[in-house]
Amino acid sequence: MALYREQGIVLRTYKLGETDRILSLLTPGRGKVRAVAKGVRRPGSRFGGRLEPYSHVDLQLYEGRNLDIVAQAELITSFTAVREDFALSACAAVMVEAADRVAQEQERSTRLVLLVLDGLRALARHPEYPGVVLDAYLLRLASLAGYHPDLEACAGCGVPGRHRVFSIAAGGILCRACAPTGSRPLDAGVVALLAALAGRDWDALAVAAAEPRLRRAASALVNSFLTYHLGQPLRAWQLVPR
Ligand SMILES: [Zn+2]
Repeated sequence: MALYREQGIVLRTYKLGETDRILSLLTPGRGKVRAVAKGVRRPGSRFGGRLEPYSHVDLQLYEGRNLDIVAQAELITSFTAVREDFALSACAAVMVEAADRVAQEQERSTRLVLLVLDGLRALARHPEYPGVVLDAYLLRLASLAGYHPDLEACAGCGVPGRHRVFSIAAGGILCRACAPTGSRPLDAGVVALLAALAGRDWDALAVAAAEPRLRRAASALVNSFLTYHLGQPLRAWQLVPR
């Protein structure tokens, strides 16, 4: 069996038999990888607590016919603080579920891996507004997956401006000429907030957390936008405290 090395993020884990676990991993070189960690649930396992969800690990794996097998795992970042906090962990669960939806097996995924790591680090650094970090992450994920939302110009004709009608099907904001008649314009603050979430640096998102009313409206749009493009709602979303 061929041995290979990859750094990866643990997206999910499933119990297998009495002591094993199946891991769903996101790796830069091979995209989504499913692998078995043998004996990982046994006390004193050689993997220790290194293969928990959200852990960033340096792995050696054997190629298998269906599932690969983890030979060695070294921790790079555990994200323990994220895993052990209810709200942070709920947001991280949505992040990895969304990444899991867009990632493919046997497809280079360097940018996606970097985005997930950025999102997890931002959650750890800004535990005071995890929902804002999550929405910023999801808009970036949409862009990376090819569904970049137009938020600075009309998605129909390209006229620049903070237009106030948002159309999920059109892929962003629409000017008056392009908006269907009868469309209800959004609060200008919501459009500005969406643009900030999509474009601003992770550490400059505090301002986006300012007004709960705008934040909830923006969050609902991000949710609908992602659901439309992914085809199904993200299940972990229900756990995120509002
Ligand atoms: Zn237009």
